[in-house]
Amino acid sequence: MYKVLLLPGDGIGPEVVAQARKVLVSLGKEHALAVELEEAQVGGSAYARHRDPLPAQTLEIARAADAILLGAVGGPQFDHLERDLRPEKGLLRLRSELDLFANLRPAISYPSLASASSLKPEQVTGLDLLIVRELTGGIYFGQPRGMRVLEGRTRQGFNTLVYDEHEIARIAHVAFRIAQKRGSRLCSVDKANVLEVSELWRDVVNAVHRDYAKVALSHMYVDNAAMQLVREPGQFDVVLTDNMFGDILSDIAAMLTGSIGMLPSASLNERDRGMYEPVHGSAPDIAGKGIANPLAMILSVAMMLRYSLNEPLLADLVEQAVHQVVEAGYRTVDIARAGQQPVGTDEMGDEVIRAMLQLSSKN
Ligand code: NAD
Repeated sequence: MYKVLLLPGDGIGPEVVAQARKVLVSLGKEHALAVELEEAQVGGSAYARHRDPLPAQTLEIARAADAILLGAVGGPQFDHLERDLRPEKGLLRLRSELDLFANLRPAISYPSLASASSLKPEQVTGLDLLIVRELTGGIYFGQPRGMRVLEGRTRQGFNTLVYDEHEIARIAHVAFRIAQKRGSRLCSVDKANVLEVSELWRDVVNAVHRDYAKVALSHMYVDNAAMQLVREPGQFDVVLTDNMFGDILSDIAAMLTGSIGMLPSASLNERDRGMYEPVHGSAPDIAGKGIANPLAMILSVAMMLRYSLNEPLLADLVEQAVHQVVEAGYRTVDIARAGQQPVGTDEMGDEVIRAMLQLSSKN
């Protein structure tokens, strides 16, 4: 029996998490998926109740869970709070408390949504890449960091880019293991022509590669990788990179697919326990209207099934159902084109479940 913690959060979070719950309940009924669902508070809703965006009780349940499904946190009503009490801080603390160092961001283009991409449809058709980003180290966390005033009263800001071999090796292992299960191609992105840290990154990635002989490894400088992502994204299978480069490259990859409402993500720790969440935020502008796209959340459920619950066939089923629904023309407002009648959040969730039932009755 797997323990899955649902953290709906704020804004559209609860609306899309409700669809994830429906999918899991259906998988339990139809495919004997053994999951125990719990729910707790995080973000603004947790602050409103407990004066803490990550209450101790939530953290305790999160530590005991096999996987966490998070909706989204944040909203303008919380923007006046001091930094440590803001909803986003709760999320950051959760990631670091659980040591979720591996961030997985897939970018998949659906044939019937190819025209929503910022690139020409023929460049994104068939696109299916995964960015593996190191999430807890590098320049965003390196010490020393700060601001100081130099002689002559000039201000100076400074940050430190630092990785040790262990940090690089553990994220490389995650990326190679995933590449093995996909197209067996891994491109490691760095800036080894300028940075010593990147030289070490390359050395360690090459060393880890010896354990994964069947994966074809290549290296690319980050400036070239940014260019190649918008020139010919289809050349990539799995991209491995550090925290800052991954931050930027994963947003470029997101744009290739056209809609933020379709993008799932996973953050894993060393035991492959993880937190799964849509890439989008709490969308306060549409919260409470029942029109949010739940597909990024549902695709996050598929990632959870694949990476934390070891149920690759059920993960395939959920992904195929989403494909089928999109190709059948169902659209929420964010992906509807002129003349297309949009469906609501709940209806989209129901359609995915209907497609899952249909697909499993065929097999
Ligand atoms: P956002 O992703 O919430 O919204 C950007 C735009 O995309 C909005 O117009 C929104 O309506 C639309 N959108 C987003 N998700 C959608 C969906 N599923 N279906 C349909 N449309 C969707 O980003 P933002 O407006 O910059 O941020 C809003 C709040 O969310 C802020 O408080 C921010 O801090 C927070 N945020 C949280 C997370 C997270 O929880 N991981 C991530 C990003 C932003």
